[in-house]
Amino acid sequence: MRRRGAVTLALPLVWLVAATPGAQAPHVASGERPSTNWLDQYREPASRLIGEAVGSTFAWQRLAVLTDSIGHRLSGTPALDRAIAWAVDEMKRDGLENVHTESVMVPKWVRGAESAEIVEPARHPMVMLGLGGSVGTRPEGVQAELLTVHSFNELEAAGQKARGKIVFFNVPYTAYEETVTYRSDGPARAARLGAVASLVRSVGPPGLRTPHTGSLQYTPEAPQIPAAAITTEDADRLQRIADRGTRIVVRLKMEAHTEPDAESANVVGELRGREKPDEIVVVGGHIDSWDVGAGASDDGGGCVVTWEALRLMKKLNLRPRRTVRVVLWTNEENGTRGGLAYRDQHREELANHVMMLESDNGVSRPLGFGFSGSEAVRQKLRAIATLLRGIAADAIVPGGGGADINPSTREARIPALALAVDESKYFLVHHTPADTVDKIDPVEMARSAAAIAVMAYVVADLPDRLE
Ligand SMILES: [Zn+2]
Repeated sequence: MRRRGAVTLALPLVWLVAATPGAQAPHVASGERPSTNWLDQYREPASRLIGEAVGSTFAWQRLAVLTDSIGHRLSGTPALDRAIAWAVDEMKRDGLENVHTESVMVPKWVRGAESAEIVEPARHPMVMLGLGGSVGTRPEGVQAELLTVHSFNELEAAGQKARGKIVFFNVPYTAYEETVTYRSDGPARAARLGAVASLVRSVGPPGLRTPHTGSLQYTPEAPQIPAAAITTEDADRLQRIADRGTRIVVRLKMEAHTEPDAESANVVGELRGREKPDEIVVVGGHIDSWDVGAGASDDGGGCVVTWEALRLMKKLNLRPRRTVRVVLWTNEENGTRGGLAYRDQHREELANHVMMLESDNGVSRPLGFGFSGSEAVRQKLRAIATLLRGIAADAIVPGGGGADINPSTREARIPALALAVDESKYFLVHHTPADTVDKIDPVEMARSAAAIAVMAYVVADLPDRLE
């Protein structure tokens, strides 16, 4: 998943133009360029980092090993345990320092067998995925008439008509942050009106009959009802039938349930700073995934490209003044317990966190970084980002942060970055069986790693702390 601030990272052209130095009013009234002599010392290491990253397909190959040999990694599964152990071994093999795990208890949701079918006016099996955290149905399933709505207002207007029905939220995808509310909040709102189950049109653009899972939020005021996502094609069929005024009956069967919390862990590796090892730059992604596909774009890729920053520095013998730390958080998808545990376990040193960066929007063509923090820091980052012009990843746009770093950055007011990438294809595969490594371009992924490596290295090495 991904949760940032309110600002979307989809980059309209105006931002790309605005982020190009020289395209806006000059900083200095006389028309002189502001002095960026401090940046000159970083041109050579930046070009070495970029060259090393794009000179191989190492990052993509590492992600392919993770996703082929281990696969998807839902919280509480042996696969996630294997992925964590694998990451520790591989970080040690890379020569990273202080490699260790930090224990975190995580929710354990189990999908079980599941199915959905249209029963009336004709039998059609639907392609579906239960929503993460959903309860199951009785063994024989729940069968009821369908009530189709297209907004929460329409649901509220239907009122008592929802009682005893399966409420279907058929809301076409616009932007993830907008449409996702029908997945996360729809089931509880339908339950409050007496619905017996809920279906939601998958939160993603039309694919090839691809269902998108994701978490839901129950509320204490409403009973917990089973809920699932169906494909856009099946949603369109239901809509066509409803538009003819024909009664629709659907049967939903789900074995989903929640078991006691399980032990998991965040993975940590470092390159210790040569002068100020107690000051820390954190980069990372989340090692858990949903239980479909292989968790390649969400978020195995984000783990690997941030981890690459340290591997590349180590390989090139670039040791910055401050410590660079990679964290692979656990349980982002259905609990964010890893990000919360990091904040709690590192509370004493959060004041020494110079910057935190998360990559959780895919690893396709990098555009630059989303940023949340002060204007002074933003200006500094804009200058650093000019080192990434050669790979066209030099934009600094609003909207830094990520679900795993937000608990820490908000508590300690730490500058927060998010790798910004071309997201045009990300939401086609997000939380689906199609989230596999073949969707990722090795060259674009290498560029994503290069962008993070340069940004992390320079921020960690600046003579004066970023602030
Ligand atoms: Zn994610």
